[in-house]
Amino acid sequence: MNNFKALQDILLTPKKVVIFPHIKPDADALGSCLALSSYLQKSGHTTTVISPTDYPSFLFWMKGNDDVLIYTHKDQREKAEEKLEEADIYFCLDFSALSRIDGLGHLLSTKVGQKPIVLIDHHRGKEDFADFELWDINAAATAQLIYEFIEMDNGLEKIDEDIAKCIYAGIMTDTGSFKFPSTSSRTLRIAANLKEVGIDTSLIHNLVYDNNTESRLRFLGYALQENLTFIPELKAGYFCISMEVRDRFNIQTGDTEGLVNYALSVAGIQVAALFKESDDSEGIKLSLRSVGDVSVADMASKYFNGGGHKNAAGGRLPHSTLEEAVDIFKKALQEIQQTVSE
Ligand code: 5GP
Ligand code: MN
Repeated sequence: MNNFKALQDILLTPKKVVIFPHIKPDADALGSCLALSSYLQKSGHTTTVISPTDYPSFLFWMKGNDDVLIYTHKDQREKAEEKLEEADIYFCLDFSALSRIDGLGHLLSTKVGQKPIVLIDHHRGKEDFADFELWDINAAATAQLIYEFIEMDNGLEKIDEDIAKCIYAGIMTDTGSFKFPSTSSRTLRIAANLKEVGIDTSLIHNLVYDNNTESRLRFLGYALQENLTFIPELKAGYFCISMEVRDRFNIQTGDTEGLVNYALSVAGIQVAALFKESDDSEGIKLSLRSVGDVSVADMASKYFNGGGHKNAAGGRLPHSTLEEAVDIFKKALQEIQQTVSE
């Protein structure tokens, strides 16, 4: 981290801290926020986690979840803005671009240069808004960087079971249960250290992955049977989830998580996409995944107003239909194929 000593100096006296995850936080984003929040509280600070949107219920077990303010919930917005105004310092976790926290991004941009902002993240495409950065695109998870942060702060003994569970959940999910190439020996050592704190890693897996509703499982059956489309000549597959489908299966936040990976599990498929129609002005939200050398982060930033990692990225098309989104996807794939064959 650049200038870590200066940050430690700021944190020598009790501060009012506001911590943000990205929109629709996953286990890594939320787990990182809640782990850091508990850690800073133990160091005498007052903390508030403000999430730009809601998130899946399979994360509600995390310690501190009940105190998270959700900016899109109208009854929590005023309090969130109050906390944001009165904060001494901000932490941005698991995102590198202010657009990833929606409307909060504008509010935070007014604090740039006024109050210290800390960024801890592992996504590509970092913008220049933070005073302190712990940014490593090779880190398996932001939660891994939270562990590194705590270690640099000589605070490992403050990691109790609640904190360890949040960090472990973030690392477990962002590494696909330790199977993605981002899983380094360091990642596994940190996981082992967390286990030694006394956490039940098997239980954490169950809480996150074995928490389906019946309608979610039925939806998965439908999606694989009737929705998934392959384009073999472009080595790609995709899902298109319309509002009608979302309503039919009562799709909740998080219910489509992981779905896109099924398309990639087919031999020979290198790129997978999931297009999702949303009920608000967001238009089409999409998830992209790839195996090997194809960078979906590049595809997301070039065609879909997004970004992410080489093999896992996402974006938005605010004014498009599902059909238009799929057409753009095909065009992007053709371009990749041409580049490869040149
Ligand atoms: P997911 O498909 O799971 O929503 O996201 C995959 C990865 O892409 C995540 O690392 C996520 O942070 C990133 N990502 C998803 N949507 C967007 C987006 O709209 N903009 C940017 N910059 N990154 C995104
Ligand atoms: Mn992450």
